[in-house]
Amino acid sequence: MSDTHTVRAFLEAGHHPWGADVAAFVARELRGRPHPTDDDTARSEARELLRLMGDEGLYEPIRDRDLRACCLARELVAAASPLADAVWALQGLGTTPILLAGTDRQRERWAEPALAGEMMGGFAITEPGAGSDVAAMTTRAERDGDAYVLQGHKWFISNAGIADFYVVFASTDPDAGSRGVSGFVVPADTEGLEYAGPQVMSAPHPLGELRFEGCRVPVDNLLGEEGRGFKLAMMTLDQLRPTVGAAACGMAERALREALGHAVRREQFGKPISDFQLVQEKLGRMAMDLTASRMLVYRAAYEKDLGAERITTEAAMAKAFATEAAQRIIDDAVQILGGRGVMADHPVDLLYRSIRALRIYEGTTEIQHLIIAGMLVAEAKAEEEPSPRGAGSDGGASR
Ligand SMILES: Cc1cc2nc3c(=O)[nH]c(=O)nc-3n(C[C@H](O)[C@H](O)[C@H](O)COP(=O)(O)OP(=O)(O)OC[C@H]3O[C@@H](n4cnc5c(N)ncnc54)[C@H](O)[C@@H]3O)c2cc1C
Repeated sequence: MSDTHTVRAFLEAGHHPWGADVAAFVARELRGRPHPTDDDTARSEARELLRLMGDEGLYEPIRDRDLRACCLARELVAAASPLADAVWALQGLGTTPILLAGTDRQRERWAEPALAGEMMGGFAITEPGAGSDVAAMTTRAERDGDAYVLQGHKWFISNAGIADFYVVFASTDPDAGSRGVSGFVVPADTEGLEYAGPQVMSAPHPLGELRFEGCRVPVDNLLGEEGRGFKLAMMTLDQLRPTVGAAACGMAERALREALGHAVRREQFGKPISDFQLVQEKLGRMAMDLTASRMLVYRAAYEKDLGAERITTEAAMAKAFATEAAQRIIDDAVQILGGRGVMADHPVDLLYRSIRALRIYEGTTEIQHLIIAGMLVAEAKAEEEPSPRGAGSDGGASR
């Protein structure tokens, strides 16, 4: 159960029953469900989880733009099933650009069915030559009459091969760099779009490659204005990065719970290992890291829900801190569990394999640090600029 007490200052009354409902769903449908051990099973299980969570209304806060409810959902789901969490994450990534910039027709045709769990979405921006450097993308979308023709290669695409549609980012004006990127909705059965095979991860997570060869996408599928795709992608990530942090909190909380339970039961040298100060030091650090992560995650979501247009810095802090902290917490949990922690069927082993990707996708930790520092440096430079009367940073009498 999410520790809503810790973050109660950031929540509203309605969030508590929502958290309780999600927790009940997780206990009923996800806990105890076998975790797939091969890619094919992960893919069919992902489609099943899509429907289960849709029937329960778990994607509704994405439409309602209730970021705190989104964070609660991911935190609770991820603690029980990292695969279900990945499914939730992609419904967010696949629908948010449409909700932010789409037409009524685009919302009705793709976002609404996806939010009901009837369609699976995907979000395709990464390419072999364009990972952190998104603007280096070479996938082209050239206008040809009433369509754009897409040509290129995307990889590391979650839900590749099982999604019903993808939000694809491609360059409509290569000379304009990031200002020449546009977003499109591309149904999976569009001619010229080929699923080029899986990229199999160490933890269950459907991932793969897409190739576009003369793929004609109607102009009606352009998301927002031509050339505004990069901004749309960044706004989408701003909004969803706190939820990645929330998922990390869920996984970390589960690991802490498993470690704590083990530490009080397991006896060595004639007493429970929880009595040893070296184990207690770990437990103390794990709890502190988890609490700090939650504060950053729900602070970011709270700012957005209160009406902040962008939460770039807050989202970057939440994502970077919570995912790095969760990695440390889960690693400590494995250590406390001893040999049991590396058994393939132990929940902490699955968490250990699953958490790693969260430090990479939706922008690596290093990129989050660059975002935060970039904002700080820009502010500091602006303060250094001479005032109209020629005063320096400490010479402005009006400040
Ligand atoms: C499980 C998973 C799911 C994913 N799902 C999707 C998806 O659905 N859609 C999608 O489009 N993409 C997806 N991705 C791709 C993901 O967003 C990229 O992997 C990520 O952005 C990093 O790109 P890269 O792997 O090319 O690494 P690179 O960009 O090559 O980075 C390699 C290393 O260099 C560092 N680095 C790069 N630039 C700098 C810099 N300027 N300063 C300091 N360090 C730097 C990085 O931090 C990293 O440590 C997914 C990835 C994973 C692992």
